[in-house]
Amino acid sequence: MDLKRVLLIHTGGTLGMRGRRPHALKPGAFLSTLKGRVPELFELAQIELELFSNVDSSEIQPESWPVLAERLHQRLKHFDGAVVTHGTDTLAWSACALSFMLPGLDKPVVLTGAQRPLAEVRTDARLNLIDAVTSALQGPREVTVCFDSHLYRGNRVRKVSAGEFDAFDSPNCPPLGVLGVDVRFQAGLSRKTSRQLDPGLDPRVYLLKVFPGLDPNVVLPMLGHIGGLVVEAHGSGNFPMKGERSLLTVFRHARRLKVPVVVVSQAHRNGVDLTLYESGRAALDEGAISGGDMTSSAAVVKLMHGLGRYSRSGPSLAAYITRNVAGERTA
Ligand code: ASP
Repeated sequence: MDLKRVLLIHTGGTLGMRGRRPHALKPGAFLSTLKGRVPELFELAQIELELFSNVDSSEIQPESWPVLAERLHQRLKHFDGAVVTHGTDTLAWSACALSFMLPGLDKPVVLTGAQRPLAEVRTDARLNLIDAVTSALQGPREVTVCFDSHLYRGNRVRKVSAGEFDAFDSPNCPPLGVLGVDVRFQAGLSRKTSRQLDPGLDPRVYLLKVFPGLDPNVVLPMLGHIGGLVVEAHGSGNFPMKGERSLLTVFRHARRLKVPVVVVSQAHRNGVDLTLYESGRAALDEGAISGGDMTSSAAVVKLMHGLGRYSRSGPSLAAYITRNVAGERTA
């Protein structure tokens, strides 16, 4: 029987690194390590490896996302699914970007990585790779993240641990798959279009975290240099609005400059409800857009993507942000 075909695109990250303390981990030769350490991967599927980059994922910038999306869009027609190996630090961001740039995805695209290099004996990389290839063959046809025996919706994940193997969670969306003794997947997103490539992007977005002591005067000058702002507010979308540290001035100034502002929550479970408290309502009055239960990374990437398609002060951008486009927010 012919094995199904999986495209494996390597971007870098710890999974493919080498090195031991006291020296730093650095990107290593990937194909030979892969063949030597997980030969059984090639029994699951016909795997074609492509090297996209070989970097620590903190080096991956927004300009890489359209290139990766385009590569997947072009190559997927020859494969049954794809696995993207990626450093865990910015994996959630790339997963968001791919989910917005590949609407109507008709094959699984599974991002994975590891907390310890594949070349080491105690590594999570082997199982993550095997599970990711399994998910690319049988899992939902959307952008997902496979890690520590779980499959998550890509644009819902957060990196929650720097030191344990369960590095990811998707607090506002139940896992799409569990790869334990049995392998079980949920149905994925329902497709509204055929697979398209929508790579437009304006990276000039800033993410502002609200904290006690934040001085609005530090923020105001920056508003002239950005195309959009995501405010990570307290709880349901709250921020101080009394006294000299009132952040309402930020919302007002942004409105004057036609800089769209999206509000998300610092709380990981649930999201913002800007109608619940005074400050949220005041933000809405100043034209702020609710980010609902999106993660900060989903909100930032979606705003970048939205700015690539719509004028920044028009209603279409706000409608795009508030719509559930790729499962990134609860309707
Ligand atoms: N610094 C690494 C990276 O993101 C961490 C990892 O891969 O786990 O590339």
